[in-house]
Amino acid sequence: MKKMEEKILAEATILPGGVLKVGSFLNQQVDTVFMKEIGEEIADLFGDDEISKILTIESSGIPIAISAGFAMGVPVVYAKKNKSSNISGDCYTTPVKSFTHGDTNNVVVTKEYISPDDRILIVDDFLAHGSALNGLINIVGQAGATVVGCVAAIEKGFQMGGDSLRAKGYRVESLAIVDEMTDSEITFRRD
Ligand code: 5GP
Repeated sequence: MKKMEEKILAEATILPGGVLKVGSFLNQQVDTVFMKEIGEEIADLFGDDEISKILTIESSGIPIAISAGFAMGVPVVYAKKNKSSNISGDCYTTPVKSFTHGDTNNVVVTKEYISPDDRILIVDDFLAHGSALNGLINIVGQAGATVVGCVAAIEKGFQMGGDSLRAKGYRVESLAIVDEMTDSEITFRRD
């Protein structure tokens, strides 16, 4: 998505440790008009794949997942990072190592929200080492449902999570793939 690359070049900041800060449009502040376009782009990519549900992880995957859900007319389920008192009953759970905080959370999804006949599209804001997407794939597997594909708004190709999922046979679509990041320059992947 050319517009995602342009947005990154115009607004993202490069932080130490291979972190891209996109607080002005994707994380803390959400550019709602751009978010609508992201949702429509995702719907174009997976519109023919009979997706029944979108699965993401709190918190920064939620706006993108909701936008894609609106565009595709399907519900969105999000994995919670901690089992809180308002989650009752049986849950699927899997460990996910946080890229930004370094700690590991057992993320949970209530069993009733994913069933074996679901065709799931997994969506997140960033794809780095792949811990978040692998965790969500694991949850879909526990439910006996099908992972149709994964979408990241921004993939950092140099952290290898995306290519390792592709090597396992998953369809992974990213709206922009950053293959190199120095203090002052961002290089995007070309086909
Ligand atoms: P992974 O699990 O693939 O290593 O990392 C993906 C998760 O870490 C995403 O859910 C995202 O919230 C966070 N993340 C990874 N890299 C970045 C980054 O460069 N910037 C921001 N803002 N979040 C990131």
